[in-house]
Amino acid sequence: MSEVLVLVDHVDGAVKKPTYELLAIAKRLGSPSAVFIGGADKAAGAAADLAKFGAEKVYAIDDAEVKGFLVAPKAEALQQVAQAASPAAILIVSTAEGKEIAGRLAIKLGSGLITDAVDVDADGTTTQSVFAGSYTVKAKVTTGTPIITVKPNSAAAEEGAGAGAVEQFAVTISDAAKAARIVASNPRAASGRPELSEAAIVVSGGRGTGGDFTAVEGLADALGAAVGASRAAVDSGWKPHNLQIGQTGKVVSPQLYVAAGISGAIQHRAGMQTSKTIIAVNKDEEAPIFELVDFGVVGDLHSVLPAVTAEVEKRK
Ligand code: FAD
Repeated sequence: MSEVLVLVDHVDGAVKKPTYELLAIAKRLGSPSAVFIGGADKAAGAAADLAKFGAEKVYAIDDAEVKGFLVAPKAEALQQVAQAASPAAILIVSTAEGKEIAGRLAIKLGSGLITDAVDVDADGTTTQSVFAGSYTVKAKVTTGTPIITVKPNSAAAEEGAGAGAVEQFAVTISDAAKAARIVASNPRAASGRPELSEAAIVVSGGRGTGGDFTAVEGLADALGAAVGASRAAVDSGWKPHNLQIGQTGKVVSPQLYVAAGISGAIQHRAGMQTSKTIIAVNKDEEAPIFELVDFGVVGDLHSVLPAVTAEVEKRK
């Protein structure tokens, strides 16, 4: 069975959940092999985690040549693994970095590229949700090794032991790929909540919060969810732009999306309407958000959300 390469998305060796989702998709297409680019000391731990989610093989690339540079060296490293392994497909998480690596890799391999897939069938046919979710497009790469970036939460991660055989893979990175160096990298203070674009549950607040996100954050914490915001809330300075959901913010596709005090403008929908289940809480029963919800509550979010939070806590 042909290998299917999955580029591992990780922070200091801690593998992020969307990588496990890609391993589940890779199993449909062939034999999943993970490509880990990181410190040699991190590779063994990561490989053990990747094996638990089905990786048969882990290509460990020491990041000595890659660290401190922008994405170009990662694309070259992945190109060299692809040339050695001749995989049936290459899967990458749809992050800004993942998509840049995918684009560069497609040029290098002369392959077709599909970005932002929300599903991939066993025959490589992908599904994309486009034009703010108004259309579903089925597409398939017809040239070279299919390179597909897949949005987080597009598949369930599947536990199932793979061999996880680690192969140290030496790469040679060109000077051209090392033309831009990172001069500073300051991580944002951790909120303790899951990363917005990969959270299984997102609770978002809009102008209807009046700037008081206590109820929104209370429910998010009870559910182990990420907090999101509409542009009105961000423009008002209540939440930072990295929490904005929508056309000019992040696109999320969680299992559950709760919109509180958000009217449901088309630009907001563009960022959340592929969520599996949508719940809205809004004072106005005519609010457009109610057109796309699975469950709607007409009421004041400052009383509805705390009641739900109390109920969730009671059932824990
Ligand atoms: P509003 O539309 O003002 O809605 C507030 C809602 O809260 C109302 O429905 C009201 O009934 C309800 N409410 C009030 N008080 C309560 C209460 N106590 N309890 C419950 N409900 C209450 N918007 C985005 O969100 N993301 C984007 O990325 C984005 N990109 C844009 C790009 C462009 C080019 C443009 C033109 C606009 C964009 N917008 C975006 C803005 C978008 O058009 C809306 O203006 C915005 O989404 C409105 O935010 P809102 O729903 O929070 O506010």
